[in-house]
Order: sequence, then C-alpha cells, then structure tokens
Amino acid sequence: MPTPYTGRLAPSPTGLLHLGHARTFFIAHQRARVANGILYLRDEDLDPQRSRPEFSAALREDLHWLGLTWDAELRQSDRLPLYRNALHQLLAAGLAYPCACSRRDLAQSTRAPHEDEDDEPLYNNRCRPVGPAANLVDARHPRGTNYRFRTPDDLHPILFTDLHAGPQSFTPAVDFGDFLIWRKPLTSDPNDIGLPSYQLACVVDDALTGITEVVRGRDLLKSTARQILLQRALGYLTPAYFHCDLLRDPNGVRLAKRHDALSLRTLRAQGLTPADILAMF
Ligand code: GLU
Repeated sequence: MPTPYTGRLAPSPTGLLHLGHARTFFIAHQRARVANGILYLRDEDLDPQRSRPEFSAALREDLHWLGLTWDAELRQSDRLPLYRNALHQLLAAGLAYPCACSRRDLAQSTRAPHEDEDDEPLYNNRCRPVGPAANLVDARHPRGTNYRFRTPDDLHPILFTDLHAGPQSFTPAVDFGDFLIWRKPLTSDPNDIGLPSYQLACVVDDALTGITEVVRGRDLLKSTARQILLQRALGYLTPAYFHCDLLRDPNGVRLAKRHDALSLRTLRAQGLTPADILAMF
C-alpha cells in the first residue's frame, strides 16, 4: 500500500491571516483533498514574543470561514521534549555545537548577510569546534546556550525538485552556513530549556506526523535545503515540496502580517464573501 498523502497547514499565530497565507493554505488544502489525504493544522507558536492565543483562535475561524477543514491539530509548544530529543541526537552525532555569539556579535560578522530580510545571516563560524573531539559537549544539559547545526564544508549542493518551483540547488557553506537549531532560555526558570529554531521544530514535526508533501511559500525554498540536511542527519525521510508563489501588494512588496488592510478580517468586514476571496487566487 502506498503511503497516503499527508499534508499540513502550518501557520504562525503572530498576526491576522492575510490574503497571501490564505492562498497558500487554500492550495495546501486543495492538494490534500484531491489526493484524498489527511491534513494537519499545526500551530507554529514557538515565538514567545510574537505568538498569541488570540491569533491562533482567529486563524482557525478565518480558515473555517474560507471553507478549509483539517483532520487533526497539533501545537508546537506542547512538543518541546520531542525537539529536545532531536537536539540530543544531533549533539551525540557531533553535528551540533554550542554557540555563545550574541546578536551583536552576529551583526558584526565579517561575512555579509543575505539580502532577504527574513533570512538568517551567514554565520562566521566563530564558535564552530575545530576538530570532532571538541564536539563532545554534555548533551544532557542544553541550557544556557544556543546551538547550531554543523553544515558540511564540502561544496556539494543540496539538490531537490520542487513540484511548483522546479529544480533547486543550494550549497550549504555558501548559501546559509551553520544555522541555529536551538535558542537559549530567556528566563532563569530551571524548567525553561529554551526553544528549538523553526528549522528543527519543522523537520521533527514533518517527520513524526508522516508528512508526505509540504506546501508553503516560496520564501522558504532555502529553508528547505537546511531542512533536508537535518532530515538526513536525523535519519528522516524527505517529503515532497510544493512552494507557492508569493502574493505582492500593488507596489510589488511581498504581503506580510503588517499589511492589515489585506487581512481576511478586514476584507470580510468590507463585505467580501469566501467566494470573492477564492476568485482572487
Ligand atoms: N509557520 C510558517 C509561516 O507561517 C510556515 C512554515 C512552513 O510551512 O514550513 O510562514
């Protein structure tokens, strides 16, 4: 029996859904339903400064209003032990290391950051251990420090064929470097173990929920290369990928949560119906 199609909607509850998200989620929903598959709603609520329960509630209501349904739900903040296990696995394999660089150190990094404002700057490898033995940190105590994934030094590209965007090639050492997989605790509470980065949490969840196809925005193509490296390091399968085009405002700027005028809430308050919205896609 082939594996049934399993997809996910993975909103971050950090603001109101706008047309751009709605379009991506609509495509994800359609692909899952056409394939007679299963669809998860996954709350990516790990940003303590920006995630809010009222946005989680609002996005569910907005998606339902638009006619989207899902079969199961999960919330990343309920799953911290799973992400921590993955961190331990990477530490034990010598594929992760603690990084003491502050934000200011990173801003002063001699290597230029990428032009994409949402992207993590290329790390200057300041805390990267020189030899494998230096990786033997105590994996039981991931408190008090950030951790990075050690990307390969060779120049072999990560290749994948996106179902919408076509063939892709990213070279880790050139395109993104050693990226954050764990952020240190922000409080002195001994129960606060810090948080996984988006890259790690996404890979663990996609694998443990058996996602067969990831549908998301095209801005995450480079993250897919990072995530494929993590999948290989953790022994997970790589799902298929479908990266949708991004909607832009009339000035050509990518829609973001700050575009309140194009939130589903605002459009709905102006009298638009779900059919009107779907007709814009
Ligand atoms: N939570 C991310 C977002 O709202 C999507 C991540 C993903 O689909 O992998 O942009």
